[in-house]
Amino acid sequence: MTHLLHRSIHTPPRRAVSASGISFTDDKGQTYIDASGGAAVSCLGHAHPEVIAALHAQLDKLAYAHTGFFTTDVAEELAAHLIADAPEGLSHVYLLSGGSEAVEAALKMARQYFTETGQPQRRHIIARRQSYHGNTLGALAAGGNEWRRAQFKPLLMEAHHIAPCFAYREQQEGETDSDYAARAAGELETKILELGPDTVAAFIAEPVVGATAGAVTAVGDYFKRIRAICDRYGVLLILDEVMCGMGRTGYRYACEYDGIAPDLLTIAKGLGGGFQPIGATLLSRKIFDAFADGSGFFQHGHTYMGHPMAAAAGLAVQQVIARDNLLANVQAMGATLNAQLQATFGQHAHVGDIRGRGLFQAVELVADRDSKAPFDPARKLHAKIKSEAMARGLMVYPMGGTIDGVRGDHVLLAPPFIVTEADLAEITGRLAEAI
Ligand code: PMP
Repeated sequence: MTHLLHRSIHTPPRRAVSASGISFTDDKGQTYIDASGGAAVSCLGHAHPEVIAALHAQLDKLAYAHTGFFTTDVAEELAAHLIADAPEGLSHVYLLSGGSEAVEAALKMARQYFTETGQPQRRHIIARRQSYHGNTLGALAAGGNEWRRAQFKPLLMEAHHIAPCFAYREQQEGETDSDYAARAAGELETKILELGPDTVAAFIAEPVVGATAGAVTAVGDYFKRIRAICDRYGVLLILDEVMCGMGRTGYRYACEYDGIAPDLLTIAKGLGGGFQPIGATLLSRKIFDAFADGSGFFQHGHTYMGHPMAAAAGLAVQQVIARDNLLANVQAMGATLNAQLQATFGQHAHVGDIRGRGLFQAVELVADRDSKAPFDPARKLHAKIKSEAMARGLMVYPMGGTIDGVRGDHVLLAPPFIVTEADLAEITGRLAEAI
């Protein structure tokens, strides 16, 4: 009997009672290896003693202060820590409670930037198909999955979508990475010209596509080209690193790999590692100055933003990652995981692609390797793999093909940064059994 509304109403999830390191225990005493960090959240694993100690200390000192009245040392320190090695030009941090809030704030900052600078007609948002930016109405509109939006039409805001950079699915035979990157990025320029450059506010994209397509990395100089197109037409670039940021790819900010800096950058999941709900939007000096020189106010806010407990969790998690040099482990273990997946599934008749960066890896399943045809979505292969994996004490993050039918089911792996080679062998072995 439950009085909670679960997302899957007829099959409530198992009941977790405790978690430590990389494993969970449920109320039946079964244990599960957390090979997905929940949804790429738990970067330090569970019950990390230093994070718990930092939370206790903060709770004893100051649990809550509304940002309309006070700032706090811990929030200031976290912001300084995040900006210290942020992509060039990002100068300020807006602290929130999760990923969707961070995306909403970024969309509104982009819109307000243009009203502050006398260009209120710049209101269009361009995003990519096969992307996920959150479930609140603005973030939902930006996301590229038609089936997620379908029940909520007409949306309060409509975004415009272009093709993602998804080499496995979209790169043509004989086309070089560089030519494909140019073609994929060119879609943005075409869309900007179609809408009219002086009506476009921002383009939003995930540097590594997470939940929707499964650890899809861009090829060639795709993001450098995207940055150049945005600059050419005065369009703001929002990078959504809610899932792929905060070290998940082996780089603190995923866009470091691409060698570009956005105007706005969203982070969440790994920021607090699951110890508290927290997200943030990082903004550039240019946007900050427009607000400061204009109305002097960002027209937004949430009751729990800048929450001291959340900031304490974020600060402690990020300090441990830096001190223990865990990003080196993410890079090393990411390479190990990819190699193990290649060795285990490389020849599998129904594995079409194995891809990712750092501890953000995915296996895409297809009905036919040659044609790359996905399985019939009605088979719900991803849901079966999830339950077969859970039955074997393994938490992975599978997702089904989208309604546009252009990709297969995939299984996303995003284990905590403390994972070892032996853990990864166990994870790969159990996943092979489940598949
Ligand atoms: N953006 C991306 C890229 C995400 O992966 C997610 C969550 N999966 C969100 C935004 C929304 O974050 P939240 O669920 O914390 O609202």
